Amino acid sequence: MFEDASRPALTHASLDRAAHLRADDGALAAMRADPRALVLPFRKRDPLLVGEGLGSLGWRGLDDPLVAGADLIFLGLEEGAPRYAAGLGEVDAPEGAFIEMRAALLGGAFGGDAAAVASGALALVNWHATHGHCARCGEKTRMTQGGWRRDCPACEGVHFPRTDPVVIMLIEREGHCAIARNVNFPENLYSCIAGFVEPGECVEEAVARETREELGLSTGRIGYVSSQPWPFPMSLMIGAIAETTDTDFTLEEAEIADARWLSRADLRRLFEGGWDDMAPPRRAAIAGTLLRDWYDRRIGWT
Ligand SMILES: [Zn+2]
Repeated sequence: MFEDASRPALTHASLDRAAHLRADDGALAAMRADPRALVLPFRKRDPLLVGEGLGSLGWRGLDDPLVAGADLIFLGLEEGAPRYAAGLGEVDAPEGAFIEMRAALLGGAFGGDAAAVASGALALVNWHATHGHCARCGEKTRMTQGGWRRDCPACEGVHFPRTDPVVIMLIEREGHCAIARNVNFPENLYSCIAGFVEPGECVEEAVARETREELGLSTGRIGYVSSQPWPFPMSLMIGAIAETTDTDFTLEEAEIADARWLSRADLRRLFEGGWDDMAPPRRAAIAGTLLRDWYDRRIGWT
């Protein structure tokens, strides 16, 4: 529908996921013995970053004492060489630093393919860290299939990594778009509104409901734009555009502190730092991609 939409950050990682190998115990064992195999360590939720400006992933060999005894999550193949992630406890960085990933994404050096690979790894690390017990019977589960499943030895339940869908939408009205300040945002930050898709809803219904709940606007046309995995802790942001003919906001006060209509020129000014009391969405967030694409006329109806 919007062929010119930009690719959001954290997408299209270069790794070959090689999903067919996950259930192949022989292949998994062979890959563990591959001298080219590398593992990306996480201290709790923070990836090891190295190099200039901490812009590179801190891959380690599988024989590194840092990851001794850790469960290894098979991420995929990089030019045929196995790549893993490992969620560790409180450990010291052998070089570089363990950095909270959202903070790293705000900096200048970390991004591109390194961030896309780390994003998928972090979502898996987050899932394993919070799903150590069976949701059916409470027994401890164990990692299987190279980290893409957890099995329960007591009730034989199998559990797969979760991704939670979230809709995030640019609201358009006659050459203007709505931006809003969530009560939990850093001061002055304005962005698109967003919310979790509820059970029983399709994406369009979730967009319409959230737009009515948070801003008090009815919606007409709703279109899909692009999506972004967002591993905080394990969401999939579904970027949409929704059209309205309503002008007046009725804000959901518990969630939204302020909302405004901006023209394309005003929105461009926001991203260029031209407003004293408003700041644009953070670098790497899909909200910024949607808003920039809209003022550049890559997406939108009016
Ligand atoms: Zn169980």
